[in-house]
Amino acid sequence: MTEEGIVGEFLTLKDETDADLLAMQCGDFYEFFAEDAELVGEELDLKVSQKSSHGSSYPMAGVPLSELTAYLKVLVERGYRVAVADQYEVDGGHERAIERVVTPGTLLETTETEARYLAAVVEAGGGYGFAVADVTTGRFHATELDGDELLTECYRFGPAEILPGPDLRADDGLVEQLRATDATLSLHATEAFAPGQARQAVEGQFGAAAVSSVGLDDATAAIRAAGAVLSYVDDTGVGVLASMTRLQPYDTGDSVALDVTTQRNLELTATMGEGGHSLFDVLDHTVTSAGGRTLRERLCRPIQDEGELARRADCVEALAGAALARERLRETLGEGYDIARLASKAVSGSADARDLLRVHDTLVVLDDVAEVVESPELGDSPLAGVVERPDRAEAETLATELADALAADPPAGVREGGLIRQGYHDELDDLIEGHEAALDWMDGLAEREQSRLGITHLSTGRNKTDGYYIQVGNSETDEVPDDYDEIKSLKNAKRYTTEELAEREREIFRFEERRGDLEHELFTGLRERVAEHAELLQDVGRALAECDTLSSLAVHAVENGWTRPELVVSGIDIEAGRHPVVEQEVEFVPNDLTLAAEREFLLVTGPNMSGKSTYMRQNALIALLAQIGSFVPARSARIAPVDGIYTRVGALDELAQGRSTFMVEMSELANILHSATEDSLVILDEVGRGTATYDGISIAWAATEYLHNEVRAKTLFATHYHELTGLTEHLDRVANVHIAADERNGEVTFLRTVEEGPADRSYGVHVADLAGVPGPVVERSQDVLAKLRAEKAIEARGSSGETVQTVFDLDSASFRGSASADGGQAADGNAETDGTVPAVESVVEALRTTDVAETSPVELMGKVERWQEELDDER
Ligand code: ADP
Repeated sequence: MTEEGIVGEFLTLKDETDADLLAMQCGDFYEFFAEDAELVGEELDLKVSQKSSHGSSYPMAGVPLSELTAYLKVLVERGYRVAVADQYEVDGGHERAIERVVTPGTLLETTETEARYLAAVVEAGGGYGFAVADVTTGRFHATELDGDELLTECYRFGPAEILPGPDLRADDGLVEQLRATDATLSLHATEAFAPGQARQAVEGQFGAAAVSSVGLDDATAAIRAAGAVLSYVDDTGVGVLASMTRLQPYDTGDSVALDVTTQRNLELTATMGEGGHSLFDVLDHTVTSAGGRTLRERLCRPIQDEGELARRADCVEALAGAALARERLRETLGEGYDIARLASKAVSGSADARDLLRVHDTLVVLDDVAEVVESPELGDSPLAGVVERPDRAEAETLATELADALAADPPAGVREGGLIRQGYHDELDDLIEGHEAALDWMDGLAEREQSRLGITHLSTGRNKTDGYYIQVGNSETDEVPDDYDEIKSLKNAKRYTTEELAEREREIFRFEERRGDLEHELFTGLRERVAEHAELLQDVGRALAECDTLSSLAVHAVENGWTRPELVVSGIDIEAGRHPVVEQEVEFVPNDLTLAAEREFLLVTGPNMSGKSTYMRQNALIALLAQIGSFVPARSARIAPVDGIYTRVGALDELAQGRSTFMVEMSELANILHSATEDSLVILDEVGRGTATYDGISIAWAATEYLHNEVRAKTLFATHYHELTGLTEHLDRVANVHIAADERNGEVTFLRTVEEGPADRSYGVHVADLAGVPGPVVERSQDVLAKLRAEKAIEARGSSGETVQTVFDLDSASFRGSASADGGQAADGNAETDGTVPAVESVVEALRTTDVAETSPVELMGKVERWQEELDDER
């Protein structure tokens, strides 16, 4: 192949693939040409040179063979699909062909501990067929989803790559939403999604019986998605199809509904802003990556099955009570490797001898783990059942075979021998013996020749070009005997060979080759047998991961004084509960919560920053933790399992993204009102804030009524609309609680305790004071506030510090007043001012009339800045 022809060949191969990039092997390098070269030059910081071809010049960039994997990983993790064309020797020349396409969802060489999912979605009568696979561990799930559930599941799994079915690709809105999950969307052949072909793929992989035995027989949409995943994996040539040992159907109805917003709001696995810790961050004490994956999955998928919850909690309880066994268990687990991933490597043929040794070591770990788990300290717990799930006898047989076959410290390469233990194979033993003897002869040669010839500066060596040689220093070259043939002259020495040396050299090379070949053959056979046990290895991986996850929960429970929640038939009753993340950061003031038949809806009031959000999230998290089988941060907790947790909390992140807060808020509210049931837990933090006051109150009011009367969900609703606290008069299962604050000498101290009854509404102004709002503004605000209260016909009883009872009558004129009522009050407020300096007055006026919902954050900042300047000038 001429140099010019290489670019031509590259461009032809590039035309054959729809991958984004092509890496083509040229001897010891993989080369990228033309646009691809420029792109990888940029992405990988590679030097781009020019290659001329047919009178044109093309950019060219290359990476050494041994480093391709590392570079591919970076490209693929950035969302590119890279085709790889390997070079083959054929009759003295060579050919190149694309053997595989590495894509984000099929990248086997990942070092991340998190799962790496590939998903496919098809549309079916308003719902979706959904299949998701982790090729690195062979996990494979398929299900059918309602319209709303698709995004929830996409966020739960967080696939690296999604294959949208043909019927979905025209739905721009959905495509955009799928893209927003950070997945790469790849177009896979339309036929692969067709019912007939997809079913064939699925039955071909798992058998027709397997499909009906898992209840997917009539789930055509799920089968279509599953078939597309299988055929895509096959097409990419990653070679892991056989590691997909079973198709696990799952039903989202088993788990607690946790929509995308809630997963984010509760900061389960990631925080909403920069910094801080997610629930997973503080809870994770796992010692293996598979254990970490399982914990993460469970946090995102709480369940309702009380039997399973009790089983998990029994395990956590046993582990929490057995300190020594627990530590021994964790130490033992830490000695294992990610065996499900090793199984995928074995299946794809990329595992080396060290990987197989790791498989062996992990199988041994299973036995050691079983021993700890079956010890008297833990023996009565269901933990013993966990390690009994994999076929222990089969595991032991495989471990023994690996121990017998593998050398103790094999090299990373699989071609040069040293992989197989002596005593495993007779012919190999003979080869090893002959090889070692020849090497021994070679080792002793220098010494023998020194004493035979009396030459001191004589040594032996081996390199690629000269093979084995005898080297003599220039001062003594006169003394070499006649049978020494000079093969090379160096600056200070000469190199020689002899007939006998050449003969031994040939012998060693022969041994090396035959030993390398035979060992490689034996090793490949061994790897294939490991691959045949992929299902066993996955079972072992799951069992060890579960032990790790449960121990991690036990460690956290013990270290933080958590208790086992009691699952009851109705209500939620938490005594001295804490927020699992915040309690790590501050001295936490514990709080109680009672939601019972007669009080299902709590209105939570209190000044800003008093702890309303924390209180509500803490309770949602306690319910969630109880439903992954964990202990919870509370003195005691009695919880009736919920079927869904819905939140509407804060809108800061959306604000930062420039999305309309009010629109987002309302669509989240709509989703909750549609989806929640009487067994759900609903957390609402400020509803209606993003619009004019009266609109806001009206929406909040109506939403409360609907949740209370129609949905009957267990609800915690924090609001700054004090008017709503009067709802207790109208709705019988609503109760008021507030976060206590103490006001002395005009200073507010947050007590963080939750108490019955509504909050005193005057704290807002004090908080402004605390936050550093200039004194005159605070004083003026107090004036204005007093005036407004009087005007709004709000009945306030008692002085500051006592309970202020607000009665808000739906039919009263003040409620029906439109936004213009605001303006009228503002004007009245101004008319009565006296003795106030003009700047303060104008700032207060501006402050009151600014429509927050209509003003962008940046504009608001500008306004505040200007007000501050005005006030400063006044001083
Ligand atoms: P709000 O929603 O009322 O504005 P937050 O829930 O955001 O208030 O809480 C404000 C701050 O108070 C948080 O930084 C939190 O760390 C702290 N906090 C909240 N509740 C407690 C508590 N029970 N004990 C200690 N600190 C708390």
